[in-house]
Amino acid sequence: MNCPLCERSKNTAEGKYPFLIHEFKNSYLYLGEHQYYQGYCVLVTKDHYREMTDVPSPKREELFQEMMRAHEVIQKVFQPKKMNMCSLGNVVDHVHWHFFPRYESDPNFKNPPWLQMQHFDSAKVSPEKRDELIEILKNAFSSK
Ligand SMILES: [Zn+2]
Repeated sequence: MNCPLCERSKNTAEGKYPFLIHEFKNSYLYLGEHQYYQGYCVLVTKDHYREMTDVPSPKREELFQEMMRAHEVIQKVFQPKKMNMCSLGNVVDHVHWHFFPRYESDPNFKNPPWLQMQHFDSAKVSPEKRDELIEILKNAFSSK
């Protein structure tokens, strides 16, 4: 297996990846390993698909609902001014969606989040902060 997101899914299923927030039927929602943007999360399909168009129906529609639910929960917890969602896959071609909550206080609010990516490593989340944010998000999933 040489896909890092397939590897992550396998580790998640075995309880070995501590960034899991929520398991959906078709995907996992993780807290991002950096929190340059507070509340940054990633939704990863459990199975390997290269493109969203490769996902068969009705899984495709279910996945869309999972994305929307993830969006709503992140929105509710962090209350950003705008959510930036993106799916690129040029680096890892396993369907995943980034959720970047954006705030008016961002250094470059009007620009795409990737323009700040050189700073992401400097914002790695500590294990304590990670667990705290995951707990808050998990609670938001369980309340309507
Ligand atoms: Zn994969």
